[in-house]
Amino acid sequence: MLALVKTEAGPGLRLETVPDPVPGINDVLIRVHKTGICGTDLHIDSWDGWAARTIHPPLVIGHEFVGEIVEVGSNVSDFHPGDLVSGEGHVTCGRCRHCMAGQRHLCAFTVGLGVERDGAFAEYVVLPHTNIWHHWPGIDEDVAAIFDPFGNAVHTALSFPVLGEDVLVSGAGPIGLMAVAVVKHAGARLVVVTEPNPFRRELATRLGATLAVDPRERELKSVQAELGMVEGFDVALEMSGNATALRTAIENMAHGGNIALLGLPTAEIPLDLNEIIFNQLTMRGIYGREMYETWYKAAVLVQSGLDISPVITHRFPFREHEAAFAAARAGESGKVIMNWMHT
Ligand code: NAD
Ligand code: ZN
Repeated sequence: MLALVKTEAGPGLRLETVPDPVPGINDVLIRVHKTGICGTDLHIDSWDGWAARTIHPPLVIGHEFVGEIVEVGSNVSDFHPGDLVSGEGHVTCGRCRHCMAGQRHLCAFTVGLGVERDGAFAEYVVLPHTNIWHHWPGIDEDVAAIFDPFGNAVHTALSFPVLGEDVLVSGAGPIGLMAVAVVKHAGARLVVVTEPNPFRRELATRLGATLAVDPRERELKSVQAELGMVEGFDVALEMSGNATALRTAIENMAHGGNIALLGLPTAEIPLDLNEIIFNQLTMRGIYGREMYETWYKAAVLVQSGLDISPVITHRFPFREHEAAFAAARAGESGKVIMNWMHT
C-alpha cells in the first residue's frame, strides 16, 4: 500500500510503498478514505525536539481518519466489513487501574496511533476493535475524518457547565474554532474569542463567536465592558498554549470561574497563584478524549444540528501531501483534509 512515512530521523516525509498492515485476532483492518492533518503531524514532519525524542522511524504517521472496515480478526464480532468507522488514536493498555475502572482516558500506558505505532496516513490502517468508533450511515465523511480533534474540542468545551455562561476561548486554531461551535450549541450566552490571526477570527465569527478580538490590540476588560459583562468570564477554554493568553484568561475570570487547559505550552509558564486562590478558580488539564463518552457526545452534537464543517478550509488528494501540509502550516487555514481514495 501507499503510506506517508517518516523514513529517517530528520525533517520531511515520503510517500512510499510499504507492506499492508496485517490485523491480529482482536484487530480490524480499515481502508482509509479521508484523514485530517493535526499539529502533531506538523511537528513530526518538521522534526522538532519533541518529535526527535518521541518518534522512532520508520513510522507511518497520522491519526485523524475515517474509513471502511475491510477485514476483522477472528475475535471480533461487533464490527463488520463495510462499516464506516473512525478510530480512537490512543491505544490503552487495558490492564492498569484506570483501564480496569473504565477510565481509559486516564491510562498511563497509552500508545499513540501515528506516533508510537503505524498510523492512518495510508491506504490501510489496523487498530484494536476496542478503539473503533462506528459512524452512522450518511454522515459527511469530511466531518467524520476530524472526529478526533472535534473530540478534543467537545471534551474541553463540555468539561464545565456552559449553559447560560459567558465563555472565553483563547486561540482559534481548528480545535478552538470547534469549541466555539460546541459551547454555543450547548447554550453559552456570550462567547469571546482571542486570536491574533485575522483569517481565524473571521472563522470564529462564522462558527458562532459573539466577538473575536486580536489580543495584541484589545484588552479583555474593554471587551467585557462593551458586552455589558460585570464580573468576568465564567468559563475559559485555553486553546493556544500561549503564556500571555493563559495569564489574560486568569485575570479576566469571574470569582469561582473554571478554566480548561487544552493548549500545549512549549515552555514553563510562571503564574501568580494568588489570583487563582483568592478568586477561587478551578483549572483542569484536558488530554485527548473520554473513551467513549466524548465520541458519543460528538456524534449527538452533529446529529442535533451542530455544523462544524466551516472549520474545514482545504481538501487535497493524498499525493499532494506537501501542499496539504503547507496549507495546514500556513495561518490562512482551519482543518486540512487529505483524500486517500483518489489515486
Ligand atoms: P493551533 O496551533 O492551530 O491553534 C492555536 C491558535 O492559538 C493559533 O491560531 C494561534 O494563532 C493562536 N494564538 C497564538 N497566540 C495567542 C494568544 N496570545 N492569544 C490567543 N490566541 C493565540 O492548534 P490546534 O490544532 O487548534 O490545537 C490547539 C492547541 O491544543 C495546541 O496548543 C495543540 O498543541 C493543543 N492540543 C492539545 C491536545 C490535548 O489533548 N491536550 C490535543 C490536540 C491539540
Ligand atoms: Zn491502562
